[in-house]
Amino acid sequence: MRVLLVGSGGREHALAATLARSPHLTALFIAPGNPGTAEHGVNVAIGAEDVPALITFAKEQAIDLIVPGPEAPLVAGLADACAQAHIACAGPTQAAARLEGSKSFTKEICYAAGIPTARGERFTNVEDAITYLHECGAPIVVKADGLAAGKGVVVAQTLAEAEDAVRDMMTQGSMGDAGKSVVIEDCLVGEEVSLFAFCSGESAVLIGAAQDHKRIGDGDTGPNTGGMGAVSPPRGFDRAAQEEALNTMVRPMLREMAHRGTPFRGIIFAGLMLTDTGPQLIEYNVRFGDPEAQALLLRLTSDLLPALKALAEGTLDTAPITFSDQASISVVMAAQGYPAKPITGAVINGIADANAMPDVTVFQAGTKQNAQGQIVVSGGRVLAVCALGNTVKDAQDKAYAGVKAITWDGAQYRKDIGARAL
Ligand code: ATP
Repeated sequence: MRVLLVGSGGREHALAATLARSPHLTALFIAPGNPGTAEHGVNVAIGAEDVPALITFAKEQAIDLIVPGPEAPLVAGLADACAQAHIACAGPTQAAARLEGSKSFTKEICYAAGIPTARGERFTNVEDAITYLHECGAPIVVKADGLAAGKGVVVAQTLAEAEDAVRDMMTQGSMGDAGKSVVIEDCLVGEEVSLFAFCSGESAVLIGAAQDHKRIGDGDTGPNTGGMGAVSPPRGFDRAAQEEALNTMVRPMLREMAHRGTPFRGIIFAGLMLTDTGPQLIEYNVRFGDPEAQALLLRLTSDLLPALKALAEGTLDTAPITFSDQASISVVMAAQGYPAKPITGAVINGIADANAMPDVTVFQAGTKQNAQGQIVVSGGRVLAVCALGNTVKDAQDKAYAGVKAITWDGAQYRKDIGARAL
């Protein structure tokens, strides 16, 4: 099978490495890829969001399956363009990708399908939004309706803070078009976990659950990032709880989407809050998480390629999919100055040493090869050191041994990834 993988992050390096193990793979291209993906296939210089160029390349290369990593090409209609070109795509159509692209759409689906979620309302008018804030009181959550790269949500502890967020988004345009309408939601309290599944039409197969670490600093301090590490499984959310959450949070959504004539095919990432009264849905994403994918894919014991092909073709129920029940962890190492102003160019040492350690794998993201053939820092989140273990502690010890083997000027990482899952 000839595969085109789309994206350039650590998630895509993990997908490339996992796909490369498949005996069914005959060619792997990655657009645009990174030095890590180049170890498993051929990088092609096409941007992940350049849908027409991706389709042209796929036709020229007789690609059998396109595997989208990030959400942007899906929201831009990559799967629809694939359907027109008769190329299988392991990701949802633009209509189904609204589950990630519009928070009010997600609310609508949750209400229609009876999925537990915080009470919320959508507003397109500032005065109405502020009146509603005063009816509800604080704490309260204000969300830009559209995609805002993880910056569109304000968990306001006071009404003044909530009002500022509404005005910033709706009248100052701080989130661009994404904030022209806002969703105002009750504030939930609990541990946050992410649930992942392969989905196709009304079928869903559990991948597993992970807990992300969004903030830059130990103890969840400092600014938000793209994710500084992930651990699987999260504490208090075992396999039985994950299967149950698949039944209450994912399968009803799949039925509702199919019923509306916009069936979902792809990897679903359900963000959940484990509240005192049970799990509540915070959000759906329509693709793997990064750095969750790096940790979860280490546990896959079956062949990823036929699973993704089956997902794309609507035959998921017949695909053999198995995961080990080990724990896994990914620790992101970031550039100096990340997330505000990452400093690039430093030479990275020790990746091969970390990779040589038992159960340790390094997935690259913000790296590039310089003229001397050295791997240097080229982005904020540089790489993720991942490990499998019999327990979370075991995986954590192995991953941090790998982290210690890798050095560059100004490298930063959290020292407490996985601590909450112990
Ligand atoms: P963006 O659109 O900017 O990319 P996002 O997709 O990251 O945002 P959400 O996942 O909906 O947005 O919310 C981001 C974070 O805000 C959540 O991970 C959670 O910590 C917090 N949050 C969201 N909704 C609630 C809620 N109802 N109660 C408490 N916290 C919430």
